Amino acid sequence: MKKVYIETLGCQMNKSDTEKILGMLDYLGYEEVCELKNKDSADLLIINTCSIRQLSEDKAYSRIGLWGKWKKDRPELKIVFCGCVAQQDGKEVFKRAPYVDLVMGTHNINEFPDLIKRIENGEKIIANDETPIEEKDFPLKRTKGVNAWITITEGCDNFCTYCIVPYTRGRERSRVPEIIIKEAKEALEQGFKEITLLGQNVDSYNKKEISKGEIGKEINLAYLLRKLNSFDGDFRIRFTTSYPADITDELIDTVVNCEKVCEYFHIPMQSGSSEVLKKMNRRYDRETYAKIVKKVREKVKDVTITSDFIAGFPGETEEQFNETLSAMREFELDYSNTAAYSPRRQTIAAKREEFFLSEEVKKDRLERLNEQNKQNCLASNQKYIGREMEVLVDIFLNHKGKNILTGRTRNNKIVHTPYDKDLVGEFITVKITGAKTWYLKGEII
Ligand code: SF4
Repeated sequence: MKKVYIETLGCQMNKSDTEKILGMLDYLGYEEVCELKNKDSADLLIINTCSIRQLSEDKAYSRIGLWGKWKKDRPELKIVFCGCVAQQDGKEVFKRAPYVDLVMGTHNINEFPDLIKRIENGEKIIANDETPIEEKDFPLKRTKGVNAWITITEGCDNFCTYCIVPYTRGRERSRVPEIIIKEAKEALEQGFKEITLLGQNVDSYNKKEISKGEIGKEINLAYLLRKLNSFDGDFRIRFTTSYPADITDELIDTVVNCEKVCEYFHIPMQSGSSEVLKKMNRRYDRETYAKIVKKVREKVKDVTITSDFIAGFPGETEEQFNETLSAMREFELDYSNTAAYSPRRQTIAAKREEFFLSEEVKKDRLERLNEQNKQNCLASNQKYIGREMEVLVDIFLNHKGKNILTGRTRNNKIVHTPYDKDLVGEFITVKITGAKTWYLKGEII
């Protein structure tokens, strides 16, 4: 059997693509190796790249430098450069890394088996089409664990001025409900205990098709959640990522009424300043975001709301940055992903060089944002001390001589519980005995 090693950088969407690629390679007779010790460890080396920030892009190229050296000693070794940087850079990849055999963008993933056969026959190929190649029915090779990710939308139409996604992942497409439902059933049959519906903007699932009258307006995200909720068995359902302005009352009510759908919303705010949000081309202002968060909190008991923020967007003033800090505090966001602004080619914000802030200012703002984030997380965790919570165990490890079960509550809090038996994949009830910044401590009851 031929061996393949694949390294995945970036977001869950890329991890999901890797599962797809591994499924196709399985069909082609490749076996995955998880460790790359030397040039003989695998016959095919793949890097699935991310271009969300300059740092991730640089990492992709630096990772494959060593592979190029190996190929000099072993010319039959095949190297694939795929994902968002491949979609964006196309033939430029060959200039920077001439030893690569296949450059495959995100739109060509469905023709991967044919492309592999061609590079096996000695071709060098660039496949980064503007429009996506139609989906084919290949089984996925899911990463082991308790959670199965199921992509429901791909791409994005929002064109936030800082974001590369609409250029690397293309316009928004919704996958057909029958395929999603089939994948969910298969995942549950394989023993997964959690299904997470995934997309850049899951709330707009089928929105385009509905507005064109191509399908009935009931086939939306809430429909998928209700459908999955009706399946037998003990499992949980999650969804991510939500776009603030697209969260509907129907969706919130569905979370409340479906017992398997977890009390967790990831609602990226990006900035607390309405003026900055306008420059970011986000379709909401501070007040609208506040109303959405308030509504979700009022309706969904014990809900965890997480967010994303950018520090140092071009032209952001100190006052506007302080509005971000106050938003994080005021809306009691339970956790936020934070990043300093990084200009991305093709995007509108990257062309406003005259408004770029210095690295020093961005670093300082990011540190203050992270400090506020820590305070929010701790305060959020402390609320649960003394409560009994259901935890789905996903790790059993030995830490400093003590056996520990690690898992997540329905509202996505991480809980560490000392226990000597491996209960991975099981639901346990714990009493929360302590709260740290990033996790809760519990005792099994
Ligand atoms: S909603 Fe905005 S930030 Fe999110 S993927 Fe789309 S363009 Fe990027």
